Amino acid sequence: MTRPVPAIVILGNGSLATARRIQQLYPGALVHGLAERVEGADRVYREFGATLRELYQQDTPIIALCAAGIVIRTLAPLLLEKGAEPPVLAVAEDGSAVVPLLGGLGGVNVLAREIGAALQVPAAITTSGELRFGTCLLNPPTGFALGDLALGKRFVSDLLAGETVRIEGSAPWLADAQLPQDPEARLTVHVGHAERTPTANELLIYPRNVLVAVNAGVADLPQAIREALHQANIAVQSVALLLAADRDMADPSLREAALELGVPLRFASDTAALRERARNAVDQPVSIFGDDAIAIAVAEHPLQPLSIGRPRGRLAVIGLGPGAAELMVPAVKAELARANDVLGYETYVRMAGPFRADQVLHCTDNREEMQRARHAFELAAQGRSVVVVSSGDPGVFAMAAAVLEALHESSDPAWHNVELEMLPGVSASLATAAQAGAPLGHDFCVMSLSDNLKPWAIIEKRLDLAAQADLALAFYNPISRSRPWQLGRALEIVAQHRLPQTPVVLGRDIGRPGQTLRVTTLGQLTPDQVDMRTMVLVGSSTTCTFARPDGGVWVYTPRWYGAKPGN
Ligand code: SAH
Repeated sequence: MTRPVPAIVILGNGSLATARRIQQLYPGALVHGLAERVEGADRVYREFGATLRELYQQDTPIIALCAAGIVIRTLAPLLLEKGAEPPVLAVAEDGSAVVPLLGGLGGVNVLAREIGAALQVPAAITTSGELRFGTCLLNPPTGFALGDLALGKRFVSDLLAGETVRIEGSAPWLADAQLPQDPEARLTVHVGHAERTPTANELLIYPRNVLVAVNAGVADLPQAIREALHQANIAVQSVALLLAADRDMADPSLREAALELGVPLRFASDTAALRERARNAVDQPVSIFGDDAIAIAVAEHPLQPLSIGRPRGRLAVIGLGPGAAELMVPAVKAELARANDVLGYETYVRMAGPFRADQVLHCTDNREEMQRARHAFELAAQGRSVVVVSSGDPGVFAMAAAVLEALHESSDPAWHNVELEMLPGVSASLATAAQAGAPLGHDFCVMSLSDNLKPWAIIEKRLDLAAQADLALAFYNPISRSRPWQLGRALEIVAQHRLPQTPVVLGRDIGRPGQTLRVTTLGQLTPDQVDMRTMVLVGSSTTCTFARPDGGVWVYTPRWYGAKPGN
């Protein structure tokens, strides 16, 4: 399995040179720099604490170029809930010290040694077992799994106390370790895929050399798999992957079983019977067990699950929010990190970046929505992880509906089998409203004034009724070069139902560089104050304003209507 790409986090320009040297070790790693302190970082952050904690929670290895104490204090609140933990290292900003802090089982010492070698300083390894034996027994290499961590820790402390050890089975990586080996030893490292209850003085390590091929429709699949493995005397820890047929791709029971067993789920075409499929999937000699509901292939060497079959493709339609990184939801950031392909209007794709060299960008013109949606499905159907970007929220006059339209029109099962998800964002109306106060604090109506995809008569009718209903109004796509007169006409209709002093908020490029927020009134509003990058919010009859101490005004629409209720 490939290792996750680390994030390199720096606080000042003084660390940039060291950060770049470390970056060369890890293709795709980005240097995250503090806003206004670091020039030329790959990604800019505003809050050190929030950024570090977010990376940690996303299981991203962290290389922080700052004092170890700062890193420890920042992550401290998260450390008690100890589960899987990414490697975390502190590196002195001048590159003179490399200190592994957390993630011993995630390979932090391996990273520390790599970085130390590149910076020509010894890594500050503090793990006794590793110092003594030159390997972390509790962190076997990819392709092998440790049986039990608690037993393992006792085993290592016995070894440190001076015991000798014997190795049963094939553990090539231990050949280079300085273990005190003795054929008569009481302690044993046992490597093998057979089901086995550990005896008191045994460290069990399982090669992940077992493939389990399954069909959907088996009742209680995880239990059935355990049962089949037990019958064949194979340890569940040795399972490297589940393999299912393409046609079962969207079946939730397969996904749940893979999740429960903690292994990847891959797919192959279903031309052969299950046992044959299991045999064909592996390019090593295998022994086959099980039947035609669950077939088990045991290989001689650990399997590389990511080179067997293909994964279920994924398509996420994401909302970037208005622009500022702080207003992008964490789920969207995580989705961008896992993407193989990113599709969208070039401006938005650029806003979503920077990207790693291995991520493919497909920038298209703003008008080619259906073509973009179909292209996204074609890529995802090949098993890729695809992201389609929208600004704001993808469901508000943006790509989510276009993607569903493309899927609805398609009869290709491969498209329908793609794992499709929409991830929300902060829409321009909400981002603008927040800056002005609470102009949408009561019932409101959201409209696009573009008549590209709907007749203008419908827009007029809706405007008339919404204004009559005294809803506050949020106008997207208010005006453009090809639609010059529509906004003026829309304001005329609204003015038939609203007083000239009705507050109006104009938000331009909200959350982006050069943003402007303007509060005016319906009577003073003219179309030339508005362009296609502007959000127009028109108040209802109850919307009011009052002065802020900084010279601006607050705009809000009260929660009540008519007479204010007693409080
Ligand atoms: N999906 C987007 C809207 C796309 S329609 C969202 O949810 O925000 C495009 C229109 O949205 C623009 O014409 C403009 O009216 C508005 N808009 C988008 N981003 C904006 C921003 N940062 N500031 C102000 N208005 C914006």
